[in-house]
Amino acid sequence: MKMCNPFVLQVQDLPERGEVGRSCVRNVRLPESFGVELYTIPAGSEVHLDLNLTSAQEGILVSGTVRATARGRCSRCLRDFSAQMNENMAELVFFPERVRELTAQGDTQAADFPVISEDTLDLEPLVRDALISAMPFTPVCEPDCRGMCSGCGQLWKDLPADHSHTLPDSRFAALDGLFLQMQAERESEGDQ
Ligand SMILES: [Zn+2]
Ligand SMILES: [Zn+2]
Repeated sequence: MKMCNPFVLQVQDLPERGEVGRSCVRNVRLPESFGVELYTIPAGSEVHLDLNLTSAQEGILVSGTVRATARGRCSRCLRDFSAQMNENMAELVFFPERVRELTAQGDTQAADFPVISEDTLDLEPLVRDALISAMPFTPVCEPDCRGMCSGCGQLWKDLPADHSHTLPDSRFAALDGLFLQMQAERESEGDQ
């Protein structure tokens, strides 16, 4: 039911037309996770909203900050880490009659604008956009993470500076040995 969704502001929460604005500060638990492949805010996480709702000509301007803790996986060393997100947002949520006007005037994008529907304002898509657009596609656990050795998978920070693998890799050496052995066996069979 809509009333229960903490992201949805009811008409009494919204500034009236002509009213300068009002603040909206609340913690919201995410009903489902937000995120990209290596960086997400898990379902059930608390998101802190510190927003201002400002009455404008065409709708209500929602501005302020969104804070949440994200879980990431480092793209260099594959370790999991958590990161604090503190993102700014500013989004105009249109009055439905304004969207209808714009559409009538030929604005083909107006239908996709965020809109106040049935006197309620759903913050969820706005908060989701603010967080997801700030998420890195190649997250790193630390800015100077050096990743891991491709030869053994150990973290470079745990390895001595002169760490290296003698080539060929021991696994290939084992295969080579097996191949030579098979070849020798086949040759000896041929001799018989
Ligand atoms: Zn890392
Ligand atoms: Zn190594």
